[in-house]
Amino acid sequence: MALRKEIIERERVQDQLKHQVMHDPLTGLPNRSYLRDRIDRALTPSPAESRQFCALLYLDVDRFKIINDSLGHLAGDEVLKEVATRLSGCVRHPDLVARLSGDEFAILLETVEQPADANAVAQRVMDALAAPMPLGGKELQVTASIGIAIGHDHYLTADEVLRDADIALYRAKELGRKRYQLFDETLARNMVDVLTLEGELRAALKHDQFEPHFQPICRLDDGQVVGYEALIRWNHPQRGVLLPAVFLKIAEDSGLIEMIDWRMFELSCERLQQHGPANTFMTINVSALHLRHDDFDARLLQVLARTGLPPSRLVVEVTEGALLDNPERVRGTLERLREVGIGAALDDFGTGYSSLSYLHSLPLRILKIDRAFVHELGKGANTSTTTTTVVAAVLALARALGISVVAEGIETPIQYAALQAMGCDMGQGYWIGHPLRLEHGRRADRPD
Ligand code: C2E
Ligand code: MG
Ligand code: MG
Repeated sequence: MALRKEIIERERVQDQLKHQVMHDPLTGLPNRSYLRDRIDRALTPSPAESRQFCALLYLDVDRFKIINDSLGHLAGDEVLKEVATRLSGCVRHPDLVARLSGDEFAILLETVEQPADANAVAQRVMDALAAPMPLGGKELQVTASIGIAIGHDHYLTADEVLRDADIALYRAKELGRKRYQLFDETLARNMVDVLTLEGELRAALKHDQFEPHFQPICRLDDGQVVGYEALIRWNHPQRGVLLPAVFLKIAEDSGLIEMIDWRMFELSCERLQQHGPANTFMTINVSALHLRHDDFDARLLQVLARTGLPPSRLVVEVTEGALLDNPERVRGTLERLREVGIGAALDDFGTGYSSLSYLHSLPLRILKIDRAFVHELGKGANTSTTTTTVVAAVLALARALGISVVAEGIETPIQYAALQAMGCDMGQGYWIGHPLRLEHGRRADRPD
C-alpha cells in the first residue's frame, strides 16, 4: 500500500514537473516547446480530412515596451495576464493559446477550411483586446499585431510555420500595427530584401561607410552661414551615395540605427571641430530610440570630450514623434543636455502631432518649421494665406518663448524673401545650400 502511494506521489511530481517545463509561469499558458509539439502533431497528415489545415496566429502586443517602461514591470505583468485571459476567451478546445516570450503570444487553430476562418479569429482577438483594460486607476488601450500562417502540406516542421507567421507579423507591424496579416510568398521575398539590407547595414557599419553631409543653415537677415545640419549618407560600394529614405526605416526597425547614429555623431563632431568655420553650430538628428536610454546625455558628452567640440556648438534634433513615446523622460534628457550647454531643436514641426501646448514646457533652443509649410509659401496670394497665418503664429509663439526658428526646405528666392519679411530667424534648403561634405577647411567639395 505504501509503495502504491509512493508511486502515485512520484507520478504527481513528474506531472507537475512536466507541466512546469511546458508552461509559462506568469500566465499559466503553454509555452513555446508545448506549442511546437502541438504544431508538429497538427502537421502530420490525416488522410481522412485532406482539405483541412491548421493555422497559426502569431501575436505581438503593440508598444508593450512603452507600457512596461512607463507603468513598471508589475503593471506590465498584469497586462500580459489580462491579454492571456482575453485570448483564451477567443478560442475553443482543441485550439491552443500559448505565450512564446515577453509580449508574444500564439494561437494554434487545429483545423481551418480556408484562410478566412483564421482571419475571422484574428478579428475576434483584435475586438477582444479593444475593450479598455482597467489598470491602477487608469484605463489602458491595448492593441496587437498578428501574423497568420496556414499549415499547408508543404510545411514539414513547426519551426517553418512559426517562421512564416513571424514574417507576416513583421509585415503587420510595418503596415502600422493594430492589424493582422496573412503570410504569402511575396512577403517571404520582401523579407529576403529586408534581411539583405539589414546585413548590408551591419557590414556598412563595420567598414565605416556612413558619413555626414552638412547642410548650411543661414541667418535670413544677412545670409550669413551660422550652422549646419549633419545628414547621414551611405557610401554604398555598388549603389553609390544613398539617402536615408532608402535605409533609415530598416535601420530603425532593426535597432541598428543606434549604433549607426553613434558613429555619425562621432564623425560629425570631429569634422565640424576640425574643418568647420569657427563659431558655427551643428544640429544632429537623434532617433527616438536613443531617448529611451537614461545615459544618452552622458554618452553624448563623451563624444564631445573625445572630439574636442564644445557643447555650446551642438544641438540635438528630436521629432514630435519621439516626444510622444515618453514626454517626461525626453524632457528630463533635454534638460540635462541644456545644463551642460547642448541645445535642443524640435524637427519637422507641424507635420506630426502638432500641439503647441507642450512647446513651453520643453527646453528648446530651436524650432524647425517643416518644409511642407515653406513649400506652400510664395505659391500665390490665395493658396498661401492660411499657411502664412500659421507660420506667423508659430513665429510669434516661438519669439514669446525665446526659441529661434529655422525654416526647412527653402527652394526659391520668393520663399526666402517671404520668411525673411515675416521675421523668421534662420533657414536651410537647396536655395541656400545642398548638404555637402565638410573637409579640408572648405565648406564644400562634393555636392550630393
Ligand atoms: P530632416 O531632419 O527633416 O532633414 C532635412 C531633409 O530635407 C534632408 O533630407 C535634406 O537633404 C532635405 N532637404 C534640404 N533642403 C531641402 C530642400 O530645399 N528641398 C527639399 N525637398 N528637401 C530638402 P535627407 O538628408 O534625405 O534626410 C531625411 C531625413 O532622414 C531627415 O529629415 C532626418 O529625419 C533623417 N536623418 C538624416 N540624417 C540622420 C541621422 O544621422 N540619424 C538619424 N537618426 N536620422 C537622420
Ligand atoms: Mg533634421
Ligand atoms: Mg526636418
